[in-house]
Amino acid sequence: MESTMNMPCKPTRHKLQPKSWLASLALTLPMALILALLLSGGPAAFVQPDRRFAFLCVWLLDIVLFFKMMRSGKTDRYRAVLFIAFAVALSVSFITRMIEVRGSMAFDNADILQCEVPFCHIVTTMIIIPAILTESIIFPGRIEGGYADISSMLVIVAGALVILGRGFCSWGCFYGGWDDAFSRIRKRPFWKNPPPILRWGGFAVLLLVATSSAALLLPTYCDWVCPFKVVTEYEAVESTRSALKALVFVSLFLALVIVLPLLSKKRTQCAWFCPMGALCSATGKVLSPYQVRIDTETCLKCGKCTRTCPMGALDADSLTSGRTGIGCSLCGKCVDACPSGSISYNVRMSGIGRSPGLSRILFLYAGFTFLAVFSGGTLQQFILLVLGALTHISL
Ligand code: SF4
Ligand code: SF4
Repeated sequence: MESTMNMPCKPTRHKLQPKSWLASLALTLPMALILALLLSGGPAAFVQPDRRFAFLCVWLLDIVLFFKMMRSGKTDRYRAVLFIAFAVALSVSFITRMIEVRGSMAFDNADILQCEVPFCHIVTTMIIIPAILTESIIFPGRIEGGYADISSMLVIVAGALVILGRGFCSWGCFYGGWDDAFSRIRKRPFWKNPPPILRWGGFAVLLLVATSSAALLLPTYCDWVCPFKVVTEYEAVESTRSALKALVFVSLFLALVIVLPLLSKKRTQCAWFCPMGALCSATGKVLSPYQVRIDTETCLKCGKCTRTCPMGALDADSLTSGRTGIGCSLCGKCVDACPSGSISYNVRMSGIGRSPGLSRILFLYAGFTFLAVFSGGTLQQFILLVLGALTHISL
């Protein structure tokens, strides 16, 4: 294995690449129509010039990225543009709105008791057991209305868990773009071989937060360890306890979202710590039709994919079994990197496993639609925010 892992790999034309740009255009047109319908916000919103402009910018960005995916046969680099933009736009527009409405990113206890706090998908990991045991939702977020209400978020999460499985971590999550971005900055990892056991960290966190939330009837992850409090909202620092929480939030954000992804080129928050990622893995293995497979007969055993995978989901065993590990988020980075085209998307039990191009298109129609629609409102809101700021400056 040692000698073959270092073999030079001869690049070949990727078999996922359509033969002509017309074929790529034909594959992009249905996506353009789907997104025009789902992103426009209806005729009432469309008559306002600034909203029309925001919609057109986001729609054009989406279809250019999708066309580039089709034309180049590459997935990850175009996915990452939208995914990272989503994470940054969400935080910027969310913080701006918090400051506009409340004057600060901090919530005090009165806000929390009045259920004025937003709900995010990670909360799902803490409310399931208490909901079964007590028939109540323990998170004090709004049931409907507001920035991110529970009812719409639960519907979106349920859809993602079934359709995308762990693919949610690369095609849906509005936080994932943060460590994805930092994991791309360095060309080579400084920390080359993180211990494989860290891949199970998210499952340990899931077990801990699910049981502690059930025992205490409190959303313990949000309350104590969510790194993304730094880029959304947090409990006001008014006591030693809340100061300690703030210290934990900042430390985890710096370590898991910035420093470790920079050093290891892995998405350490998503791969090692996030309980939602672990839940997606578990449901995805059973329910999601999509997976990434390796053709062990054509594989050159060069090891490029195992070094490239940002989730640590590939190792030497994957190259002999043909299967990715449980952390695979379907990002497509290994598919793009493989010099022999041995890695491909696959649709389980569809009978089209031997047609990697078709499997990829079927996956991209699901994954890209989910990402484009889920991010669409946030990106439009971000553009409106920038337009508003520019208008304010010019006045
Ligand atoms: S699957 Fe591709 S990238 Fe991975 S070891 Fe085989 S040839 Fe190399
Ligand atoms: S195995 Fe491939 S598709 Fe899955 S997370 Fe790793 S690089 Fe992405």
